[in-house]
Amino acid sequence: MVEPETYDFIVVGAGSAGCVLADRLSASGKHTVLLLEAGGEDRHLWIHIPIGYGKLFTDARVNWLYQSAPEPELNNRQIMQPRGKVLGGSSSINGLLYIRGQRQDFDHWRQLGNVGWSYEDVLPYFKKSEAQCRGSDEFHGGEGPLSVSDQVEPHEVCEAFIRGCQEVGIPRNDDFNGASQEGAGYFQTTMRKGRRWSTARAYLKRARSRANLTVATGALTERVILEGGVAAGVQYLRHGRSVIARARGEVILSAGAFGSPQILQLSGLGPATLLRQHGIAVLRDIPGVGSDLQDHLQARFLYRVTRPITVNDVVNRFDRRMWAGLRYILFRKGPLAVSAGYAGGFFRTDPRLASPDVQAHLLLFSADKPGGSLHPWPGMTASICQLRPESRGTLRIKSADPAAAPEIKLNYFSTEGDKRTMVQGLQLLRRIMGAPALKPYIAEERDPGPSVYSDADLLAFVRARGTTIFHPTSSCRMGIDEAAVVDPELRVKGVGRLRVADASVMPTVVSGNTNAATIMIGEKCADLILRSAKAAPRATAA
Ligand SMILES: Cc1cc2nc3c(=O)[nH]c(=O)nc-3n(C[C@H](O)[C@H](O)[C@H](O)COP(=O)(O)OP(=O)(O)OC[C@H]3O[C@@H](n4cnc5c(N)ncnc54)[C@H](O)[C@@H]3O)c2cc1C
Repeated sequence: MVEPETYDFIVVGAGSAGCVLADRLSASGKHTVLLLEAGGEDRHLWIHIPIGYGKLFTDARVNWLYQSAPEPELNNRQIMQPRGKVLGGSSSINGLLYIRGQRQDFDHWRQLGNVGWSYEDVLPYFKKSEAQCRGSDEFHGGEGPLSVSDQVEPHEVCEAFIRGCQEVGIPRNDDFNGASQEGAGYFQTTMRKGRRWSTARAYLKRARSRANLTVATGALTERVILEGGVAAGVQYLRHGRSVIARARGEVILSAGAFGSPQILQLSGLGPATLLRQHGIAVLRDIPGVGSDLQDHLQARFLYRVTRPITVNDVVNRFDRRMWAGLRYILFRKGPLAVSAGYAGGFFRTDPRLASPDVQAHLLLFSADKPGGSLHPWPGMTASICQLRPESRGTLRIKSADPAAAPEIKLNYFSTEGDKRTMVQGLQLLRRIMGAPALKPYIAEERDPGPSVYSDADLLAFVRARGTTIFHPTSSCRMGIDEAAVVDPELRVKGVGRLRVADASVMPTVVSGNTNAATIMIGEKCADLILRSAKAAPRATAA
């Protein structure tokens, strides 16, 4: 019988938050850290070339390839739910956009009783993580590991889009993460010199040279081992064998909005009825585990562009593909360095609102679905997502088998407010795309097309074509109320030495793309852990 290995900290999941934790917890050299990742090394070429994002949607080598349950308000369609299964997690397969959310999001978290999570509280962690290409200032950090870059070059269609927004009264904004989020402009990206800057690249690469950090890939965590109501370690499956690792200090779950609640439920921490249904002994009845799942629903308009100036035109012609490849190799520029959204904006669908309630993404390519083949004509996509959805979903195990996919139910579009905001957002997008600045570029709106124009038509269009923009959160929600899963220090309520740190703890989804806020959560959690380890040094071996 092999003695289980013992570490000070065990981090489950090497994604956006997990890589941050592995790096920060091992940095002093005083603590031993085990990082467990179900996926493999991030060697796939298309991870590192930004436009390769489109190829990773359906690649089982790096993606869990989840599907939602049939969504009642979306004509019972199942919605694809890609999640990174590789070092870097979803930060290795995402669209690279760097957006933090609004000041009001974090102040709202604080208002819900989450001490330490107001905008003023979290801003230092955003800055700590960031290497902003424009340098540091009141809102930005310049010395962190996460490279945040401007788009490699401007594009005439994006310029027209920004002018179009101005023509309908929306101001230009050159920094969505600065003083105000509102307006239209270019997105900044987690990229460096034309290459993706995942958290594996930003944080884990430098940490792996440390002898006190062990990284195990291909390691599927099966459950947290609880002894006397305290997390004592984890059991994981690697090379076909179940292995036990013990933690002197803490176990931190960073397996993401689907993975973390699944592991808690498999460990006997979750809704009692659900656990009993699957023959799992209930160690603690925590009904909130897997509740409050949120996501951003998006609806996409597709356009045929008047001239061959889009990514479609490069991908579909051999000579242009060769030229683009050469340009990328030589200068790290051109279509291969294009992130998912290039330009976009944050708009208020009602001027009486205090801050934007919808986000637009302008993509310089078009396909029938995210990750689908690009159209054989010059094309672009403009989408709207509602930033603060009211709909809530659930994440529930379907089996006691850790390798079985859980049931993911978002209940998209299930409130009148969600429907109204989305439809108004699409009407606003139509006005922008019809503005004089964009006229020279748009040959036609291909989908849904001009016959779909009333509110009722647009509602039906979203039901038929709406999809995720890949931002699931809040399934292990932080809070001080009964239903919350973790407290404001991210400790699982009623369980010792167990925290959750990833997108699942967001009290509400942030108003924007979710990677940056998840990295901030990783930074803050590491700080909380190191402080408490310092206060009680015997909890971990120094
Ligand atoms: C296709 C796509 C596009 C996106 N585009 C953007 C964007 O442009 N900008 C943006 O800000 N956000 C974007 N996002 C969202 C953003 O990337 C995520 O919100 C963020 O990465 C979530 O981080 P996380 O740490 O919560 O989870 P993840 O980064 O998903 O990490 C979880 C990790 O845990 C591992 N894991 C899960 N279960 C287990 C287990 N049982 N045992 C061991 N390991 C396990 C997973 O393999 C994974 O590596 C996108 C996401 C996707 C999928």
